[in-house]
Amino acid sequence: MRKLSMRSLALIIVLFYACATGPKPLEPSSRGPVAAEALLVHASYLAADSLFGRRAGTLHELRAAEYIRREFVRYGLEPAVPGFFQSFSFIDRIEMGPGNALSWALGGVNEHTKLQSDVDFRPLGFSASDQAEGGLVFAGYGISATEPEYDDYAGLDVTGKVVMLLRYSPDGTNPYGPFGEYSPLRKKVLEARERGAAAVIMVTGPADDDEDYLMNLRYDRGGYAGLPVVNLTRQAADRLLAFEHLTIAELQQEINATRLPLSHEVPGVNVSITTDLVPQETESRNVLAALPGTGSLKGQWVVLGAHYDHLGWGGLGSGSMEPNANAIHNGADDNASGTATLLELARYLATNPPTTAVALTADQSTGSPGQSMSKGGKTSPGNRRSIMFQAFGAEEVDLLGSAHVTKHPPVPIDSIVAMLNLDMIGSLAEGRLLIGGAGTTPLWKELLPVLNSDSLNLAYGDEGFGSSDHQSYYLKDKPVLFFSTGEHERYHRPSDDVEFLNFSGMVKVGQLVARVTEELTTRPEPPVFSRVVSSRPVTRRGLAVTLGTIPDHTWDGEGFRISGVRDGGPADKGGLKTGDVILRFGETEVQNIYDYMYVLQAAKAGVPVAILVKRGAEELELEVVPERRRD
Ligand SMILES: [Zn+2]
Repeated sequence: MRKLSMRSLALIIVLFYACATGPKPLEPSSRGPVAAEALLVHASYLAADSLFGRRAGTLHELRAAEYIRREFVRYGLEPAVPGFFQSFSFIDRIEMGPGNALSWALGGVNEHTKLQSDVDFRPLGFSASDQAEGGLVFAGYGISATEPEYDDYAGLDVTGKVVMLLRYSPDGTNPYGPFGEYSPLRKKVLEARERGAAAVIMVTGPADDDEDYLMNLRYDRGGYAGLPVVNLTRQAADRLLAFEHLTIAELQQEINATRLPLSHEVPGVNVSITTDLVPQETESRNVLAALPGTGSLKGQWVVLGAHYDHLGWGGLGSGSMEPNANAIHNGADDNASGTATLLELARYLATNPPTTAVALTADQSTGSPGQSMSKGGKTSPGNRRSIMFQAFGAEEVDLLGSAHVTKHPPVPIDSIVAMLNLDMIGSLAEGRLLIGGAGTTPLWKELLPVLNSDSLNLAYGDEGFGSSDHQSYYLKDKPVLFFSTGEHERYHRPSDDVEFLNFSGMVKVGQLVARVTEELTTRPEPPVFSRVVSSRPVTRRGLAVTLGTIPDHTWDGEGFRISGVRDGGPADKGGLKTGDVILRFGETEVQNIYDYMYVLQAAKAGVPVAILVKRGAEELELEVVPERRRD
């Protein structure tokens, strides 16, 4: 048993107390803006094993939401939406429907041989739910590469055919090898679809896995492939190839040995495939509370936000850094730390509504030219903007919660003057605090040094984009501030536990946020939004070029929907707008976000590309010139 430090002993007593009876609410009024012991109680409850990592759409996430609501009620805050909960549903997983079928017949013979669904074959999670029939073609790894020179489609016509492909590449499973960029399943399917295939069959060769199993049915939120895509066991695939006395093992061995394709039509075999996938929706919710303002500024809102969900048990596709761990990801720093601090700020501001712009105080004390802070100045007492506290659900699922509340805001989006986001503020080290969005209004870099009375080491990042909820508000042209102490070795791992949280650091961060909030709610002029012209394009890893588009992850229709474009980027220059859906890029049809990524991967910097977009009811032909990605 690991030796218990005094601190862990104290922790155990509080935890025992908290878990045994549920957190005993501490008196709200008497404390400063943010109290460490309250943070400890909130974070211990939210990051306890009993909430099983608060995965979006689960009962455990709901229990966390109920806890947050109870606290908001206790502080006397008003519901910003009836019952405080703004629910939204999203596709969480996908299941097989009853209609999946696969059979084949030898040329001219009517009798079809059937394979067994979920035993011999299973659709892939991004398969269309559709029916297809056609002659069988074996197309190796389905790779058409220039570097290294290797083409499974050379001299092969797969129009209207059912194309059987091997997973991975002649180099095996190495994603970083020369064939790495050609190996993703979705890339192979796009390649086959763009060549006219009617359906795709995926098989794992024995060189890559000696176990003959079917891939798990997994939903990757990337949209559907536009045609049936199924995975067959090797055994089942060999039954389709039996007429030409070949096996997957022999074909793969030969290709890997010679590095030469062995693609061919399988004479006389006609395959019929029906795929039936049923998306399963689940529900999450944002917890929204309001502290109404007073006087002439009451109609304007400052949003304080933090996401309260995390990864649950982790697993493939969850975002876990240990996807095979299958353990509770407690998410103490991510983001019980931000949620606990949001609760403390809500408690404090509810009992101590801001009266005057704080920055002034600093002026008077230091005599520094604070008065000149752009239109800071004095408000007549009694004029105060309203504050909305937003605890976001499903942040770990492509920022769905904040994307939802910015699409369906409880108050007019124009009345929101700024958004402050707290995500992972529990690991303050050497006073280093990351401040994202610092360039989204000139006010931030004027204000923060004045309010930084704990002399934190503020590290500014100008970008309003980023992998947390402030991005959803920046996309609505709102000045945003992102507070974070940054990633660490426990990030998105089961080890992200309460005992590692730096509570005194969270207090300091919380108090800075309190001061910024007091200033924002009382200063006469709201901050002026400025769009950040960033040198670093917002792109996905491994892309050499960029268009500067922001994907809309809430979109599950056909095509690639844009939720924003980077100012001055190729997309912006090409006339693309928020809400546009890209349907074709050059010659390639774009059915989903992955198709878009792969065609972008093949695009050349400086070479104009014609794209087809859907804007509302109309379709537009535009031209964009991709830019080289600069790291
Ligand atoms: Zn987070």
